[in-house]
Amino acid sequence: MIDKEKIKEAIKLFLEGIGENPEREGLKETPDRIARMWEEFESLRSFDMKLFEEFGQYNEMVLVKDIKFYSMCEHHLLPFFGKVHIAYIPDGVICGLSKLVRTVRAFALRPQVQERLTDEIADFLEKQLTPRGVGVVIEAEHLCMSMRGAMSPGHITTTSALRGVFLRDMKTREEFLKLINKA
Ligand SMILES: [Zn+2]
Repeated sequence: MIDKEKIKEAIKLFLEGIGENPEREGLKETPDRIARMWEEFESLRSFDMKLFEEFGQYNEMVLVKDIKFYSMCEHHLLPFFGKVHIAYIPDGVICGLSKLVRTVRAFALRPQVQERLTDEIADFLEKQLTPRGVGVVIEAEHLCMSMRGAMSPGHITTTSALRGVFLRDMKTREEFLKLINKA
């Protein structure tokens, strides 16, 4: 649960800590705005998992490319963002495209690291869909690398998580990577 009062207090202290006056016009409402923003993130994280639906005998690879996402690195609380590619081979159960988009959002809207985000999406879909296999690839730019530290704008970090036949069967894996132009 989001504790808005705690967030407001913390942001006010943070602004003081970086030498700002939290009472000045532009910043006065900032603690409240940030508290409400996190409340919004929390509400966007939950969605109805039961909507995953049963389907006939489609057993070919289902692939959704280029799902845009925004997340926040847990080391700097700066955004990282980019694209998620998801593929799975169903075993009698499929889900709508919007469920994949919501799955990505549910795990992205919290302090994260890209590797864990990739794994969590793969594990969740494996559990929900019990597919023959699932593959997740994320390509993202991290503002903590672009704005500070390495100062390497435009640098794309790629991570992947493979489960089931995507792990065991080289041909399935190659087909997936070829379809997302990563082979
Ligand atoms: Zn970072």
